[in-house]
Amino acid sequence: MSIEDAVADTGCQDRQIRHERGQRAVFCGLTSIVWLHRKIQDAFFLVVGSRTCAHLIQSAAGVMIFAEPRFGTAIIEERDLAGLADMNEELDRVVNRLLERRPDIKMLFLVASCPSEVIKLDLDRAAQRLSADFAGRVSIFSYSGSGLDTTFTQGEDTCLAALAPVLPEAKRDAARSLMVVGTLADVVEDQFARLFREIGLENVHFFPPRDSQHLPPVGENTHFLLAQPFLTETARTLQRRGARHIPAPFPLGEEGTTGWLRAAARTFGVPDERLEAVIAAPRERARRALSAHKAKLEGKSIFFFPDSQLEVPLARFASRELDMTLAEVGTPYLHRQHLAAELDLLHKDVIIYEGQDVEHQLDRCREARPDLTVCGLGLANPLEAEGLATKWSIELLFTPIQGYDQAGDLAELFARPLNRRARLEV
Ligand code: SF4
Repeated sequence: MSIEDAVADTGCQDRQIRHERGQRAVFCGLTSIVWLHRKIQDAFFLVVGSRTCAHLIQSAAGVMIFAEPRFGTAIIEERDLAGLADMNEELDRVVNRLLERRPDIKMLFLVASCPSEVIKLDLDRAAQRLSADFAGRVSIFSYSGSGLDTTFTQGEDTCLAALAPVLPEAKRDAARSLMVVGTLADVVEDQFARLFREIGLENVHFFPPRDSQHLPPVGENTHFLLAQPFLTETARTLQRRGARHIPAPFPLGEEGTTGWLRAAARTFGVPDERLEAVIAAPRERARRALSAHKAKLEGKSIFFFPDSQLEVPLARFASRELDMTLAEVGTPYLHRQHLAAELDLLHKDVIIYEGQDVEHQLDRCREARPDLTVCGLGLANPLEAEGLATKWSIELLFTPIQGYDQAGDLAELFARPLNRRARLEV
């Protein structure tokens, strides 16, 4: 066994966590542009990359034929180092043309990718240079969506971590505020905003915002609640700016959403009775919606390949709210602190695999023959061909799944492949 293949066991809160290193089969961080561009509605994401990058982002998002698109690719061809100055000039030309043609763009992200010719370009400097040219009109940032060291959700983390340092400074004597960090579909954001209002929290901001001109303030009186479990770098940057993390489970399912809201409510001194009164009706709706799917899913086994970093909260939801059996829970990266509340809720016997050695995982999956496998697109087809029902983990990012009113939809995402397979077998 090579060092790369080595598997180590460590305890974390009396739980077995196995580390795997080996071949990976994941999408790159460019994919997150698909949900980020829908969220920040006056931003444009310009991928600086190759034809492969352009192809990936278009097939992930679907080709936009109706509206003016809000992402695109500046294709960089193979060039030697002597051609770098031209590359910078070309990039400036592309950006100038884009921003002249599209006055609606108020924020521009230059997104780095992994082809070697792009790595030679210093996009941070390009963003600074162009920011000076467009000062007062367009804010320009750069971040990496490269596939070399990211999972596809880390693209959101690097994007928000690039924005976090420029969030306005909250005044020292500002009232305490809550910042919800992580992209949520607008419909989910509206539901949470309403619930926070009803429990008496007035000073609530969402990051990223829908409008790039409304970046939330941050300071020592900011408490932030993560809406997504893959925002390590963003959280670190916010903490460096004085903000405090509210430990909580993630708002998936009835239980996760209640735990998440309760953590915020307690931080701000909202009495439990007030919270319970506000959430009683949506909680009940979530329970009812779940019970229909639970009847079909309970007792079924589920296997998570490491892909989105949502695996631990999803495993908690599947096992505790749908009574599914966890065959294996893999995650590309496990942030012990951000996932502490989730790990507390998972049965102690559940082994978590951190990292990936895809061949070994495929072997274990074939042996376990789970009723449902949650995995990346690349693994789904071969596993389906072997008779296993699969769910693409990327769908869990493209679909609104957080909050009470989406709990049933989340369960349905798990139930659908099993229903389809049952129909095929009839
Ligand atoms: S960034 Fe790298 S991994 Fe992603 S599409 Fe471009 S070439 Fe492929």
